[in-house]
Amino acid sequence: ELVETPDREEELEPRAPIITVMGHVDHGKTTLLDYIRNTKVAEREAGGITQHIGASVVDIDTSEGKKKLVFLDTPGHEAFTAMRARGAQVTDIAVLVVAADDGVMPQTVEAINHAKAAGVPIIVAINKIDKPGANPERVKQELTQHGLIPEDWGGDTVMVPVSAKTGEGVDELLEMIALQADLMELKANPNKPARGVVLEAKLDKKRGPVATLLVQSGTLKVGDAIVAGLYAGKIRAMFDDKGRPVKEAGPSMPVEVLGLEDVPLAGDKFYVVESLEKAREIAQKRQELARQSALEREKRISLEDLFSQMKSGEVKELNVVLKADAQGSIEAIRKSLEELSTDEVKVNVIHAGVGPITENDIMLAAASNAIVIGFNVRPDSAARKAAEREKVDVRTYRVIYDIVDEVKKAMQGLLEPEEKEVYLGSAEVRATFKVPKVGTVAGCYVRDGVIRRNANVRLVRDGVVIYDGKIASLKRFKEDVREVQAGYECGVGLENFNDIKVGDIIECYTIEKVQREV
Ligand code: GDP
Repeated sequence: ELVETPDREEELEPRAPIITVMGHVDHGKTTLLDYIRNTKVAEREAGGITQHIGASVVDIDTSEGKKKLVFLDTPGHEAFTAMRARGAQVTDIAVLVVAADDGVMPQTVEAINHAKAAGVPIIVAINKIDKPGANPERVKQELTQHGLIPEDWGGDTVMVPVSAKTGEGVDELLEMIALQADLMELKANPNKPARGVVLEAKLDKKRGPVATLLVQSGTLKVGDAIVAGLYAGKIRAMFDDKGRPVKEAGPSMPVEVLGLEDVPLAGDKFYVVESLEKAREIAQKRQELARQSALEREKRISLEDLFSQMKSGEVKELNVVLKADAQGSIEAIRKSLEELSTDEVKVNVIHAGVGPITENDIMLAAASNAIVIGFNVRPDSAARKAAEREKVDVRTYRVIYDIVDEVKKAMQGLLEPEEKEVYLGSAEVRATFKVPKVGTVAGCYVRDGVIRRNANVRLVRDGVVIYDGKIASLKRFKEDVREVQAGYECGVGLENFNDIKVGDIIECYTIEKVQREV
């Protein structure tokens, strides 16, 4: 890994801010980005084709002169947090779009918490003010409940009413972004070999690997040898966001480059080295390391690991993403968790919400070194896969006391040799039958893994656990069986439970004692 020598103050020059647009679905993120791009991007390639390379540079006139703003083209906190989980923080400012006729919605809250967890300042665009039902004051009121207090109410969050459709207020919004950027005094040293992040990459049939790179420091030049992720290359040609060929790109500038030997991943870091030979040598080493660590499956963020890091002073905060079946339980759990904070260790609930554990929750945890706690809710299948891939510790509970007890014990370094839940598989309920003297039997299809007669089961409806217990009967056709594998159908009866509905998920698991390593 290349060690970067810190820049001296006099070597630094101002750079443009990088902006991500976030917000609830349909609140107007794409429309706002399009409006800004179409009206503010003055020059275009001959023929007027808009080039989408992953980011757009916008020139604006402010009272302080001409400024550049760089907008990432992929709106939403999903892409933002996925990048962070890969170790790349590219955003300087988040623009939170809230529709004035709809107000604060679940993904608005998610976006706020994702931006906060990253320490990125938020500017609010209260959108759709052209609509008859628009109520910007109500939006402000709702946002205060999530810690964003508007400036005109004595807080420090800039909120600009806009219409992405008519363009009203958009100039003011852009000016506010520029102002915020000035306050942040964003700087970088342009006079050194470039380094930065891969925003997008693909294989083009004619041109070979094509990547959009965001330069974070230094200046990238045609002819430079680079390492991007696991691959080497020599920059053959470079294009700006308007598709124009350029010879170099300084800090904050996105460019599309040709000349990489393979396709890196979005979120990979890149940097310039002295020669293509050197780049290939580094790339080779990285590929070997990647193969090894894929085998070892190194990093896992778990409660125990976090606490051992805390004991050694590496970590001072326990970050928690909390999901539960009701707002009331969230407040109770949040309060009791935060009360566990000591002088040495702070317990931080960085995001809380009602509903099942989603892939977004996992990615936020991965990006923020957090664990995920679920109360009466379960991860959906995408979340379970993500948790495995990202090595995020997901713990689910049915009793609030257990959550507090376990976290408390862990904080005192007293986590006992633990019982660990082992997930076996799940089945979907496709039909239900009332059987006299037996009760309800569910006709199921095993989606993944295995359903075992003697294991524990829980019944999950819309991500919420509504039953936790044992299987009373497991049949294939008329036969009693010990287990049923994925891809097969079966009949399942639950002990003392008949409220089974089509669409419910039956999850099967066992509890195993784990020998903890010392
Ligand atoms: P996204 O999911 O957040 O990207 O939302 P879109 O940009 O796709 O917008 C969702 C819908 O709202 C589309 O039908 C837009 O035309 C509409 N829309 C977006 N901004 C405005 C606005 O300022 N005023 C009005 N009236 N409609 C808008």
